[in-house]
Amino acid sequence: MAFYETVSAGVPLLKSSLIPMRHGFTTRLGGVSEGYCASLNLGEHRGDDPECVRENYRRLAAALDFDLHRLVYTKQLHGNIVQIVTSADSRELFTPLETERDGICTAEPDLPLICYTADCVPILLCEPERNLAAAVHSGWRSTVRDIARSAVGALASLGAEPEKLRAAIGPAIGKCCFEVGSDVADAMRAWLGSEAGSFLSPRPDGKFLADLRGASKLRLMQLGLREENIDVSDECTMCSPEKYWSHRVTKGLRGSQAAVIIPDRRVRDAI
Ligand SMILES: [Zn+2]
Repeated sequence: MAFYETVSAGVPLLKSSLIPMRHGFTTRLGGVSEGYCASLNLGEHRGDDPECVRENYRRLAAALDFDLHRLVYTKQLHGNIVQIVTSADSRELFTPLETERDGICTAEPDLPLICYTADCVPILLCEPERNLAAAVHSGWRSTVRDIARSAVGALASLGAEPEKLRAAIGPAIGKCCFEVGSDVADAMRAWLGSEAGSFLSPRPDGKFLADLRGASKLRLMQLGLREENIDVSDECTMCSPEKYWSHRVTKGLRGSQAAVIIPDRRVRDAI
C-alpha cells in the first residue's frame, strides 16, 4: 500500500490506498491566497485574507465532496487530547472554538474531520468495518505525550478493534531535517524507552536527527495496529518548501496545510 497523488476540483491531494473513505492531505497548491500564504492556506489565524481562506475551504470541500457547514475542527495546543465529536461540534469558519483537542474522532457518517500541520505530523485513522475515523495533529510534543494512545483509545471506545484500524501518516518534517536537542531526545526516550534509539540519529554537535513518523508508526504497532495497515509518507515538508509549508523554513510566516477524513455516508453492516 502506498501514498498517491490526485488532483480534484483543482486541488492536489495526497491519499493513502489503505484508507477506503474520502480523505486527503493537502499541499500548499491549488488555492487563491497570495503572498506568503499562497496558495491553499487553510489556517484561519495565519494573517491571510479571510475571503481567500473561505474560498480555499470551498475548493477543499468540492475536491473531497463534503459539506463545509458540517466540518469539525481541532484546536491544536500540542497536547494529547483526542475528543469524540458529532455534528453538534461542527462550526462555521472564523467562529470561536473553546475546546482543546489536538485530535478528533467520530462514528457519525458523513462528518468531515480536519487537522492542520506545517512540519508537525498529520495522522488519519479509520476502521472501515465500523465506519470510524480520526484526524490527529502530532507534533513532537503531542507525539511524546502519547497522542497515538489517546487516538486508538478514543476509537476503541467507539467499538474499533485495533488490529482492524488503518493509519496514514502524512507529509511532515523528515528524519533528514528534524534537528532536535537533548530535551526532545530525552522526551522520546521517556515515551518509548530503549526503542527510541532507533529514531534518534546522534550528530557530532550533540544534537540529534529525529524520525517522528517512524516513532509514531512503532507506537501504533505497540497499540495493536498491524504493520501492513500503517502507511507512512516519505515526503519531507522542509525539503519541499515549494510544495508544502514548513514552519522551520518560513520561520513561522506561513499558511497551513490540512488533513481531512470523512466517514462514509451510510454505516456499513458490521461483519
Ligand atoms: Zn527533509
